[in-house]
Amino acid sequence: MLPPGAVIGMVGGGQLGRMSAQSAARLGYLVHVFSPEQYGPASQVAARNTVASYDDLDALRRFADEVDVITFEFENLPAASLELLENLKPVRPGARILAISQDRTLEKRFLNDAGIATSHWVKVETLAELEAAVEVLGLPAVLKTTRLGYDGKGQAMLRDPEDLPHAFERLSPKPLVLEGFVNFGMEISVMVARGVDGQVVTFDTVENRHKHHILDLTIAPAPVGSNLLAQAQSIAAVVAEQLELVGLMGVEMFVTAKGELVVNEIAPRPHNSGHWTMDACPCSQFEMHIRAVCGLPLPPAVRHSDAVMKNLIGPDDMALWPRILATPGLIPHHYGKSEARPGRKMGHFNRLFPKGALPGELGIEDALKLTGA
Ligand code: AMP
Repeated sequence: MLPPGAVIGMVGGGQLGRMSAQSAARLGYLVHVFSPEQYGPASQVAARNTVASYDDLDALRRFADEVDVITFEFENLPAASLELLENLKPVRPGARILAISQDRTLEKRFLNDAGIATSHWVKVETLAELEAAVEVLGLPAVLKTTRLGYDGKGQAMLRDPEDLPHAFERLSPKPLVLEGFVNFGMEISVMVARGVDGQVVTFDTVENRHKHHILDLTIAPAPVGSNLLAQAQSIAAVVAEQLELVGLMGVEMFVTAKGELVVNEIAPRPHNSGHWTMDACPCSQFEMHIRAVCGLPLPPAVRHSDAVMKNLIGPDDMALWPRILATPGLIPHHYGKSEARPGRKMGHFNRLFPKGALPGELGIEDALKLTGA
């Protein structure tokens, strides 16, 4: 158990690092951020900063010297950098989990080996292999780069045989994976934490709604039956146990038209779909992350309220900031980014409801209405 005053090394300087650092400070820890960006969201609230690129091994070595434990807020750290850090200090979650979550084929193979359903998938390296894969999986199907894809980037929907050459050309020569199309009714996710001692806690299952491939709303709890809510939590717990996770992880799933759960992605860090926990739970995903990384006991991931989280994306949403502040009942979170580029996550707000009183579709729309013209 790291005592208060210990230093947590945080690799990555975005909003997930910022909100983790805020929770860490509340528990008496200092956070040292390693990020290529000066004055980024996390650096603004951290005790110490290193500004260097993720492949600067000298800077990473000095950083590791100055911290007691290392965690990260994004998955795409170069393998050599991660290996160096792991040789110097405890890295939580560890390199194996990162390697699996960075590569869609490793991720799906791991999940399938653990008995967990994913979309049907085939690894693809050439156009001929893509054509053969389409024969097996049928159309529509989704072609994705195996690495570095997020928010719908690095993927193409294939509807007709004519789509294949163009999609292949756009995404290759990166290694690709073809996924069978999942006819889903809802996208859900579960945040799960596992402590140094193997204790696992799962937050409640939530629904995620996207706009232009970017998360727009999270609804907690997801409006599905209690069996499905519990099933999603137990899938997340199995994933955390099988990976021997120490830290926090988001598990994204589809609920198929038949009511079955299919895991889409895992993310071994705090996750946008867990931001509702900041206001609806006594211990947020960020505090849970810090507790797990520092070897503290994990409290039950209870929820005292129902919640809707609304992401604030780009200049259009940020133009609403004064009205958000003026609207009673909205709990605002700003990430401290200076420039509101289109598609950029700038902040979010949460709105709470008494437990069990989450309104239906129209009520949610109503609850997100802002004061003023
Ligand atoms: P991803 O980058 O894997 O999170 O995918 C981004 C979004 O594309 C998901 O949130 C889904 O809405 C959609 N999507 C991804 N994979 C599939 C699939 N196999 N079938 C249907 N929709 C998908």
